[in-house]
Amino acid sequence: MPTYPSNSLHFAKALKGALPSAPKPTGAPVGLNILLVGAGLGGLATAIALTQAGHKVTIYEQTAVLGEVGAGIQIPSNSARILFELGLEPYLKPYVTMPESITFRRWQNGKVIGKTRLIPDFVDNFHAPYYVIHRADFHSALCQKAQDMGIEIKLGAMVVDYDPVLGSITLADGTSHTGDLLVAADGIKSVARKVLLDGEEMPFRKPGFAAYRAVVDVNRMRNDPEVAWILERPALNIWIGDSRHVMTYTIGAGKAFNMVLSHPDSSDPAGWDVRTALQDMKAEFQGWDPVLTKIIGMVEKTVKWPLMSGSRLTRWTRGKLVILGDAAHAMLPYMSQGAAMAVEDGVALARSLSHMQSPEQLSEALGIFEKVRIVRAGQMQEASLLNGQLWHFADGPLQEARDAAMAPEVEGLPFSHSPNQWSDPATQMWCYGYETEREIDSAWTEKGGALRKDQIVETLNRNLINLAD
Ligand SMILES: Cc1cc2nc3c(=O)[nH]c(=O)nc-3n(C[C@H](O)[C@H](O)[C@H](O)COP(=O)(O)OP(=O)(O)OC[C@H]3O[C@@H](n4cnc5c(N)ncnc54)[C@H](O)[C@@H]3O)c2cc1C
Repeated sequence: MPTYPSNSLHFAKALKGALPSAPKPTGAPVGLNILLVGAGLGGLATAIALTQAGHKVTIYEQTAVLGEVGAGIQIPSNSARILFELGLEPYLKPYVTMPESITFRRWQNGKVIGKTRLIPDFVDNFHAPYYVIHRADFHSALCQKAQDMGIEIKLGAMVVDYDPVLGSITLADGTSHTGDLLVAADGIKSVARKVLLDGEEMPFRKPGFAAYRAVVDVNRMRNDPEVAWILERPALNIWIGDSRHVMTYTIGAGKAFNMVLSHPDSSDPAGWDVRTALQDMKAEFQGWDPVLTKIIGMVEKTVKWPLMSGSRLTRWTRGKLVILGDAAHAMLPYMSQGAAMAVEDGVALARSLSHMQSPEQLSEALGIFEKVRIVRAGQMQEASLLNGQLWHFADGPLQEARDAAMAPEVEGLPFSHSPNQWSDPATQMWCYGYETEREIDSAWTEKGGALRKDQIVETLNRNLINLAD
């Protein structure tokens, strides 16, 4: 592939074998004993990627029972593609829904103002479907795969300290464990991040939003002709308006209707009253599209979540310790990419370690991982924050200009740019066409790492011969 941003060779990807995939690292694999902290979506995906790359992984998870809180989650194509490469397709297939499109709707009346076609466009262009799934099903698919690969998960194992020099962790029960590498996927309140930052806490950006999360019984919706139409075809629908939006889609193969209702709130979660959450949520969206408010009226219980964006860290590694997932790059959920970034992190880490030719290259491998991933995840934090602005204009000139700029995609006309970041061609290619392993390989190549110059020349020549044929 060219080293500049170009889609000119995209046509050839469809011809199987015409272009060789990124050359596999050639160094003798160095098998590491890895202690991984956190069995969330990011930790499990990373454990699977590392095990597949030949390392021995043991997971330490603080909770006594494995699981995921919340309802739906989107698995965008950039994540689905690498999950398939990790062998997860059969584990996910029974639980996923494949929405046909993402539709932006006007807050007041539900009028369609933006539209991204996911089927067949995302499969055609990014070589993997765009899925939605219940979080618990996603988590149990990863757990099942990890179990089938023989990965040991130690439950009730809360890590209270890390020694990045020795490569050891200390658990709340006082025991210590040592490995060649410590990977912390311990979430937004990461203990490991504090150790890495010499006791400092990462400054969080507080964009001033919170979200209600809820699931509606589809049978209730089906019995109401005014709202039943929304279930007819699997799709994501987002109502956007002044400082607020509501993201919806069906999960559980059409059995439940998932809603995330984002609204302004910068108050301390410690003061939130769970007893009034349902009525507060309804009040936030009063006067919005009657179809939407009718569905909101069917919600029987809701949970309110603070939404935070981490700041871009200057380091993710220290000695034998590396952090990833939300621990490293918490972001607003407005690109639906937080867990997807954690999955990419896991694959990137495994790929970078596969370039090592001796254990002495560990810090080089971690450095390359860190360099590549800080840029990618930082840009995704930025894109997520941008959606928080693009979607939340009050009615007026900016909103009108935004909606006018999305009109071609609604009318099926050609367009070269869009404020809908799912549709905007440049953002789409960067977001969903990103090739995690190739980025790591390129970084190693630039550093004169494991890929020898003659191998690169040979690959380039092969590309040219294939193209000439
Ligand atoms: C409303 C909302 C909607 C979202 N929608 C999407 C979406 O559509 N698509 C998407 O890709 N992302 C989405 N996200 C983001 C996604 O949920 C997160 O980015 C992702 O779950 C982070 O995974 P993680 O494994 O890094 O962290 P976590 O899920 O937080 O997992 C951390 C794990 O570490 C364990 N742990 C923590 N501390 C310790 C310790 N000291 N010792 C041992 N174990 C420990 C925890 O118990 C937990 O199991 C959304 C987020 C929100 C809030």
